[in-house]
Amino acid sequence: MNPKSVTILGATGSVGAAAADVIAAHPERFAVQAVTALQNAKALAGLAVRLGARKAVIAEEKGYAALKSALSGTGIEAAAGEAALLETAAAPADITLNAIVGMGGLKPLMAAIERGGVIAIANKESLVAAGPLVLATAQRAKATILPVDSEHNAVFQILEPENAQELERIILTASGGPFRTASFAEMEAATPEQALKHPNWDMGAKISIDSATMMNKALEVIEAHYLFAVPPEKIDVLVHPQSVVHSMVEYTDGSLLAQMGAPDMRTPVAYALGWPERIKTPGARLNLPALSNMIFEEPDTKKFPFLPMAYEVLKAGPAFCVAMNAANEVAVQAFLDRNIGYMDIYGTVRRVLDSSDDPVLDTIDAILDFDAVVRQRASSYITNISGNPDLSSDKARIA
Ligand code: NDP
Repeated sequence: MNPKSVTILGATGSVGAAAADVIAAHPERFAVQAVTALQNAKALAGLAVRLGARKAVIAEEKGYAALKSALSGTGIEAAAGEAALLETAAAPADITLNAIVGMGGLKPLMAAIERGGVIAIANKESLVAAGPLVLATAQRAKATILPVDSEHNAVFQILEPENAQELERIILTASGGPFRTASFAEMEAATPEQALKHPNWDMGAKISIDSATMMNKALEVIEAHYLFAVPPEKIDVLVHPQSVVHSMVEYTDGSLLAQMGAPDMRTPVAYALGWPERIKTPGARLNLPALSNMIFEEPDTKKFPFLPMAYEVLKAGPAFCVAMNAANEVAVQAFLDRNIGYMDIYGTVRRVLDSSDDPVLDTIDAILDFDAVVRQRASSYITNISGNPDLSSDKARIA
């Protein structure tokens, strides 16, 4: 069997680490073409050596010298800059995994899709902001998209395309994050350290904060709508703090299919990298007898108002999905930088959305231009409120 060639975009992150573990466990199955990162040259070089990659690409030009020096004598090619990243995303590979965080993943995603082939997507922000264009391009270029996000990977595994008409609903599960049982006052005082402490999953900083606010589930509702062509009213969310049922699909005959597994990204990543076959993973396994009290509860949309916002922006149109995502990225970074409080994340996104215009976004450039405008608006709002507790936060709207 010829090894499958793999490119990992965003290899130095949390999903990248899961992919590296899966690949390292199957050296005969995979041949790594390229690994990429934004600025972490040392980690990227280490990963390239561990996986025997042919090439390592750092998106920030200034990281080139460090990358080149760390790879010296290894025979691994070093490259830097956006053009090198896009060229690598577009280069032939049997499967390209997009594990970049945020909108920085959109252009590489489009470059990979334009080439056709198989693209495994963890980078949910790109799908949220550009879902219709991503899918139309994939169809034209005959690219196959495989969802890596654990919930969508679960749905992908249990959805029966031949019974699409009989699908009653998709149920995305949510852990509820670190503030599931927190009071409003506790959430108001939450520090980045508390918000980063996810009860079940070990993830990158941005998605960890999104899990705390449940923006992550809002993004996933939109992602599911696009990936599975299911209307928003057929996508529900249930809080399931144990994170062992990764999502469910209910059919008209009353059958409820669930995909289960330990909360370990190596399983969905292995499913995508091995697809259409299943491969053994070094990931954790579920111990069913040790499971008790599996809880499923309706989300508290007062405490987690991003959840209803997902349905609101889907109804309002694609520009509002871009705006929600962009404002959130800016607000999450400002919270991590301690420029705003936890509640201000919602306050910022709400304000930006309320004053958003609705341009026609029919190209990737138009989406990226609008994304930049929204980021500017979100930053201005944050500059206005930071250090001004009277203006800070739309607390009343959340309480
Ligand atoms: P991390 O922050 O851990 O890693 C992000 C990766 O992307 C790093 O390799 C980083 O490089 C690179 N990167 C960041 N910005 C850019 C950019 N502008 N251009 C090029 N590369 C960039 O993120 P996660 O692994 O947690 O998440 C990745 C994506 O997968 C996100 O969209 C997330 O929502 C999604 N996801 C994550 C899950 C998880 O368990 N972590 C689960 C399901 C989905 P560097 O290290 O140099 O900064």
